[in-house]
Amino acid sequence: MSDCCSINANTEAAPAVMTCPVNGARSKQVDMLTVKSLVRQLPLGMPNTQYYFCDSSDCAVVYFALDAEAPRFRREDLAVRVGAKETADPIPICYCFGFTRQDIWDEIRSTGKSTVAKRITEEVEADRCACEVKNPSGKCCLGSVAQVVTDYVQANQRTKIEVVP
Ligand SMILES: [Zn+2]
Repeated sequence: MSDCCSINANTEAAPAVMTCPVNGARSKQVDMLTVKSLVRQLPLGMPNTQYYFCDSSDCAVVYFALDAEAPRFRREDLAVRVGAKETADPIPICYCFGFTRQDIWDEIRSTGKSTVAKRITEEVEADRCACEVKNPSGKCCLGSVAQVVTDYVQANQRTKIEVVP
């Protein structure tokens, strides 16, 4: 298929996963649209290359490129707090609808249940989410929501949590 006008035209051969040049973490591809949407101020003359998202909490780099000459972007370059890299609240989990780790934990603490995944899923199914331009990973947050619930269970070993389907 001819696709010469696609903004991803130069990136078809890029590997799916690259190691972060700063801390060596395995990092997945992220679309240029996500990078352009979330980097506060784009440098002039940015090359059209494949970018990758480093989600390690101990690394300040958020986006790095296949092209080693291309600019890297750090936490402070983004318009949002990158939840995966934050250890202090607020830790954003769902960027479309604004759920933080605290929101998810508060609900569990007060009701013994977690309905956040269900509420987000309803929005996703109705096509009302915008992960591609709001979440630094460019992906849906539901995996992160599940992880936050798991983290709570592990931190409070005896607690039984009902995740509302
Ligand atoms: Zn890194």
